[in-house]
Amino acid sequence: MSKNYYDILELGKDAGSAEIKKAYKKMAMKWHPDKNPDNIEAAEKKFKEISEAYSVLSDPEKKEIYDKYGEDGLKNGDIGENNFTSADEIFKMFFGKQAPFDDNIFFEKRNPVKKSESKVVTIPFSLKECYNGTKKKVTLKIKKICTGCNGLGGKNPRLCNGCNGSGLKILNRHVGPGMIQRIQTVCNVCSGTKNVIDVICVLCNGNKVQVEDKQFILTLEQGINNNDKKIYENNGDQYPCELAGDVIFVMKEDENKLFKRIGNNLVYNHSISLGDSLLGGLISFNDLNDEKIVFKEDNIIKHDSYSIIKNKGMPIKNVVNNYGDLYVTYNIIYPTKNLSVSEKELIKKILPVTNISVSNSEKMYSSKLYNNFSIEELEKKSRKNEYNNFHEARNGFQGMPPGMENMFRGFF
Ligand SMILES: [Zn+2]
Ligand SMILES: [Zn+2]
Repeated sequence: MSKNYYDILELGKDAGSAEIKKAYKKMAMKWHPDKNPDNIEAAEKKFKEISEAYSVLSDPEKKEIYDKYGEDGLKNGDIGENNFTSADEIFKMFFGKQAPFDDNIFFEKRNPVKKSESKVVTIPFSLKECYNGTKKKVTLKIKKICTGCNGLGGKNPRLCNGCNGSGLKILNRHVGPGMIQRIQTVCNVCSGTKNVIDVICVLCNGNKVQVEDKQFILTLEQGINNNDKKIYENNGDQYPCELAGDVIFVMKEDENKLFKRIGNNLVYNHSISLGDSLLGGLISFNDLNDEKIVFKEDNIIKHDSYSIIKNKGMPIKNVVNNYGDLYVTYNIIYPTKNLSVSEKELIKKILPVTNISVSNSEKMYSSKLYNNFSIEELEKKSRKNEYNNFHEARNGFQGMPPGMENMFRGFF
């Protein structure tokens, strides 16, 4: 059944805009759920009805459609489906920002205010900072409700008459005899902001918010982990009619060229000469704080050997004086210059060498020596060759029946 908006607002069909406003004001005050704590459900229903009726009858275009076609004529718009939030919005726009009664707390509780979006900021930290713990000063530009206009954008804000505070306008386009197409567009009077102001605020230029510098001092405790978050609740941007958002700092560990962190352990790759690897002895390098680490390995150090130094890894977060381990891997540097004949003789005396003889009847192959073999490189090269072979082969298939060509392709 079609709703009678005039009945709802207790008005006659010929009511003018002043009468409609007056009726809405009276009834909205009476039926606002905050005024009816003992009868909330019924009041809310009634309040929605009143707001819906007002949103239609106070808008000349909507009113015209309603008068002609009834509620059904408006169904394409979003007016008929008014929820409490938009009903309340109409109410607030009508009465200005301040609700007309004091027991606002009750109202806020039932309708949690939207929280502005969180600000996410990445904070890079080095392994050294993580090892020692540090503090970081961060200044952010934070949006605040303008103090000059209290977030209204200017003086005397009022509900936009052009769109009745919806920010949208419904235009009727005649597309044929008796046929009207209804198009929803952004209101041209308020540009979709839902209200209009007489004098624009000079402090915020009508933007309703001001930007201010806010300083945060972050404590990065020892052993802080990559992607750890530090959240400052309600310290972020705030927009009108919203709660301030959060500021979320996300810790990002910088890559260290020398040390790699694996959990609480550190891995360090140490280069030693071939001679050192054979003889063993003292090994020394500097830690993250540029302090000298010295230890001794008496045995032969092979290319896949590693040493563990206990408690010289990363500090364990929230556990005082507890550290992971330091793993030392080895990179053995061979001499770049070939040995002389006499040096070779010396080596032969101390290291086992293979003596292979070749007879004149046996074939000797030629070869070339390279450094740094990589199986991935070889695979990449092979794939490239296969691809080239395929394309060469395909050119050779010219003139073959298609079925046969596909059969051959399967081989490549
Ligand atoms: Zn302002
Ligand atoms: Zn408007």
